[in-house]
Amino acid sequence: MVIESDSVNPSHALFDCFVQAQTCKETQQNFIELCRHLKVEPRDYKHFYSKLKDRLNYWKAKELWQKIDKRAAHPDYGQGQTCHQNKCLVLGAGPCGLRTAIELALLGAQVVVLEKRVSFVRNNVLHLWLYTIRDLLNLGGKKFYGRFCSGSIHHISIRQLQLILLKLALILGVEVHTGVTFKSLLEPSGSTGWRAQVSPESHTAAAFEFDVFISAGGGRYVPDGFKIKELRGKLAIGITVNFINRRTKKEAQVQEISGVARIYNQQFFQELHSEIGVDLENIVYYKDDTHYFVMTAKKGSLLKKGVLKQDFLDVDQLLAPSNVDQEALQAYAYDAADFSTDHMLPDLEFATNHAGHPDVAVFDFTCMHRAENASLVKERKGKRLLIALVGDSLVEPFWPLGTGIARGFLAAFDTAWMVRNWGKGVPPLELLAERESMYKLLSQTTPENISKNYAAYSIDPATRYPNISRCAIKPAQVKRLYDIEDGK
Ligand code: FAD
Repeated sequence: MVIESDSVNPSHALFDCFVQAQTCKETQQNFIELCRHLKVEPRDYKHFYSKLKDRLNYWKAKELWQKIDKRAAHPDYGQGQTCHQNKCLVLGAGPCGLRTAIELALLGAQVVVLEKRVSFVRNNVLHLWLYTIRDLLNLGGKKFYGRFCSGSIHHISIRQLQLILLKLALILGVEVHTGVTFKSLLEPSGSTGWRAQVSPESHTAAAFEFDVFISAGGGRYVPDGFKIKELRGKLAIGITVNFINRRTKKEAQVQEISGVARIYNQQFFQELHSEIGVDLENIVYYKDDTHYFVMTAKKGSLLKKGVLKQDFLDVDQLLAPSNVDQEALQAYAYDAADFSTDHMLPDLEFATNHAGHPDVAVFDFTCMHRAENASLVKERKGKRLLIALVGDSLVEPFWPLGTGIARGFLAAFDTAWMVRNWGKGVPPLELLAERESMYKLLSQTTPENISKNYAAYSIDPATRYPNISRCAIKPAQVKRLYDIEDGK
């Protein structure tokens, strides 16, 4: 990729390359080069950001420093000293893991993120609530991604969101290891504290000892000790499809669809069904890095169109790869996209996914999962470990409501607040009781009922949830979340 830099100063040009990098690998490589050139050591996490700032006297960088400094100056972070003795392991460099890592770094903690993938490849586009847009703009989102929220509907692809957050995390001294899979927690032994079993086994992250573990692995991954509740609804089959956006004039003129549900536009869905046999409950179209469509399809039409080969009552069997005809699925998604945009998108060509195949996927959202509790403290051999879930592994979002990032970031902030209290030495039961009190609010949050004073948002839950009760749950009610060896 050709990076545009108006600077002849090598460190400025390197900074531009880092800021504009379009892949995870490029970001990491450019970051290493920039650090080497400026002779700053990223592992020196306590002083890294201030040294980087001192050594990069460049107006573009300074604009970014101003934004970061404004956030970092918030009293909640105690000038980056509150958690200076805490060491945090974050599982997953998805949007919520990275957003949490940034907050922990601002609190002064040493933060290590493990990500099993080596690239950010998810084209799917996420609708964002207003507060998350403010949050990302305040952190310099537009400096990293100029097109951020420039359209009529506020959205961003998952990969671009990850890239913005990865760059911020690196600037703040977070260590991000890609291609490293978290396997399990290892209890303290001898003089060694809590560690992680990772793959590859010989990776340096295996030696990292920590007192805070953030599980942000998305999907249904949850560590031992957490219970998951399942909420079963009626059968719901989703389809996502991405087409290449060539950014032509013609493409620019096509209207996005912010979410048409069957009950609001019966005629459209009837015509779609009668004319091309595609039977949907709803459809969304966002124009972003790609032309992205997501829809809920009715089983009957998927069977009729040969997308599903056989009918099964069990949804896992129904949507098993062996029961899905990929070509028929592509044709179904293509027709739905073409019809719903009035055939106005020229030359629809599938974007490719991580495997280099047309980016079309079918998924089930019949069951929604959520963790019964958000946090735990384990104590072994006198060593305590605070464990918290954030993002999809805490509450699986319902995609038509676009709650994933909004509630994911709220949980990231609430978790950072809990880690702040951990750093301040608040006793485990008090800290867990407060976290669980906040967690009770999370699933009820909507864009309307959270505080509208976005400028005042901080990691303190009181700035975001109106009428909160920090002690809705009492310490005595969370004893089961404090797991001490031998039941002591
Ligand atoms: P993820 O993004 O899943 O990230 C988890 C990361 O952890 C991954 O990178 C994974 O590789 C890594 N990982 C997992 N296990 C390990 C391990 N053992 N070791 C190391 N790394 C590991 N949300 C919105 O806000 N708005 C929307 O409009 C919206 N639309 C959606 C549409 C669809 C069809 C779907 C399915 C979801 C939608 N969402 C939407 C939800 C949104 O995608 C998620 O909420 C969001 O991606 C969750 O971020 P996360 O960081 O929690 O998890």
